[in-house]
Amino acid sequence: MVQIPEWVFEFHGHRCPAMPIGYRAGLVAMKTLAVQRASNKELYLICENGPAHATACFLDGVMAATGCTYGKGNAEKKNYGKNAIVLVDMKNKKEVRVSMNPQFQKKGLASEFVKLRRQKIEPKDIQPEVLNPLLKNILKAKEEDLFIVSDVRDSEVQGPRGTFNWHECDICNEIVFENATRMVNGKPVCIPCFEKI
Ligand SMILES: [Zn+2]
Ligand SMILES: [Zn+2]
Repeated sequence: MVQIPEWVFEFHGHRCPAMPIGYRAGLVAMKTLAVQRASNKELYLICENGPAHATACFLDGVMAATGCTYGKGNAEKKNYGKNAIVLVDMKNKKEVRVSMNPQFQKKGLASEFVKLRRQKIEPKDIQPEVLNPLLKNILKAKEEDLFIVSDVRDSEVQGPRGTFNWHECDICNEIVFENATRMVNGKPVCIPCFEKI
């Protein structure tokens, strides 16, 4: 049975089924690529889920497992409404896609937990008796029952370029980094000020 560290539940904010599925998806992707959790930007994550109920929590689990985060800039979300990820090994330029097995997902979507969520009951208000069997089922499921894993393939993903270069916005005087600066009459301007011109 897969163990999810308690800090991951704390980070996510509540106990639910979708976050642990995402955590496991991240683990499976890392195992397939034979890589460790990213401490810097060794990995890049493309998450295909959002913006739907009953699955959006998935991404927090993936981020916790892989170390690909919005803050580090090595994660992006496609909003395709699918519980699937592409994880990229940036050093070796290899990637794998892990998607949720539709059979498993259908069972989850028919669960009592999701029925209660449809009735607008928040995850934190759902009784442990409803959640715990579902959670246990997810943590002990075989990888092949939970996911469909692609072959490892070559990756074209570049990832975003960061910068240390900055300007002072000519209008609001706040510091704005170069890759988000607009030039107006030769003067640097931040995007919100630019959009008001
Ligand atoms: Zn959740
Ligand atoms: Zn400005």
